[in-house]
Amino acid sequence: MGIRVFRERCVGAGMCALTAPDVFTQDDDGFSELLPDRPAVTENHPLVREAARACPVGAVALTDD
Ligand code: SF4
Repeated sequence: MGIRVFRERCVGAGMCALTAPDVFTQDDDGFSELLPDRPAVTENHPLVREAARACPVGAVALTDD
């Protein structure tokens, strides 16, 4: 399982970084970024699905790769 952030959709609400701070951060403009040293995202990660659900504009997607 992978994760993707559609930055063109991101409005900087910060829910992803608040929900899963080991995976997401926000850049200087407040837009979401994936942390380079994030843990491997698996179905077992407790908060990544919640982060995707929490994004108010659907900018976080889980992928099959
Ligand atoms: S929750 Fe969505 S809108 Fe907010 S920073 Fe994360 S990706 Fe962007």
